[in-house]
Amino acid sequence: MIRLSGITPSGEMHLGNYLGAVRRWAAESGPEDLYFVSNLHAMTTHHEPATLRRLTRHQLAVMIAAGVPGDAVFVQSDLINEHMALTWLLECTCTFGEARRMVQFKEKSDGRESVRLGLLTYPVLMASDILLHGAAEVPVGNDQNQHVELARTLARRFNANYGDAFVVPRGVLPETAARVRDLTVPEKKMSKSASDVGGIIYVLDEPDTIRRKLRRAVTDGMADVRYAPDEQPGVANLLEIVAACTDTSPTAVADGIDSYRDLKEAAAEAVIAELGPVRERALDLLAGGGELDKIRSAGAERARDRSRDRLANALHLAGVD
Ligand code: ATP
Ligand code: MG
Repeated sequence: MIRLSGITPSGEMHLGNYLGAVRRWAAESGPEDLYFVSNLHAMTTHHEPATLRRLTRHQLAVMIAAGVPGDAVFVQSDLINEHMALTWLLECTCTFGEARRMVQFKEKSDGRESVRLGLLTYPVLMASDILLHGAAEVPVGNDQNQHVELARTLARRFNANYGDAFVVPRGVLPETAARVRDLTVPEKKMSKSASDVGGIIYVLDEPDTIRRKLRRAVTDGMADVRYAPDEQPGVANLLEIVAACTDTSPTAVADGIDSYRDLKEAAAEAVIAELGPVRERALDLLAGGGELDKIRSAGAERARDRSRDRLANALHLAGVD
């Protein structure tokens, strides 16, 4: 059974991506699973070519540094021909109405005609990621579930129209992954695309930066360290961060701490201890020596080998071989 997950290089990897996704990939990865940097997905809105290239390497390096097996990773554009070939087959399987109904498209396009066409078709590219690699399970958050449903629909329709080509995938909600919130706006989740970097802890932040950001984290005027996510979202976020980094529960963390100052101090130490080794390894990989490039090209080769027959069969069934 193949599970497939990806991360879009729309910004640098932050603590939320790490605790909520990448650390789990490293811990739970099965022998056939695949994890990829979805750099083609970062082009649906304005992007800077040099930045995208840099962030693609960055995401790959952090994934490997976090312990995601090197033989389970690849970069989407390293298989651009394969992904594009299948995207076309699936665009010719998907209707305009289905694409237009995607909630994310409606939200992000907001009725404007000037949006990139790729914003409309990107769920089809996502379906091609899933179907090309034969994924049976796709762990996604609620916001992406509609896209996995579309991939299901397209797999079924293609199989019914032309013959058995694809595994019909299903989305799985990861069971209670840590949802890390923005340090300065604790009502919002920590996000790569947020504008104020003061609220975001990046995996590659230096220890002093992490201390400073946590010291400035928004709390409340209650001066009461207890785990009450609705009434005290800022404090709850810090408790959850410590708990996730030290493998305990937020309530247990709250029991041992009396002041917000101590809580922020504990959070800083826990985060620095958790991210330190990942940061060092990632910086080593990024500094050169060719190791990262080797892992990247071997990963692309493996992913291409594993998907070759599936793509050839689909092209054949559609009558375009
Ligand atoms: P963007 O703002 O560009 O959407 P993002 O930070 O939301 O970026 P994604 O690339 O959308 O990151 O998501 C990558 C993975 O990280 C997904 O599995 C997602 O569920 C997880 N993730 C993102 N933000 C958080 C967060 N704050 N807490 C926990 N998990 C998160
Ligand atoms: Mg997101």
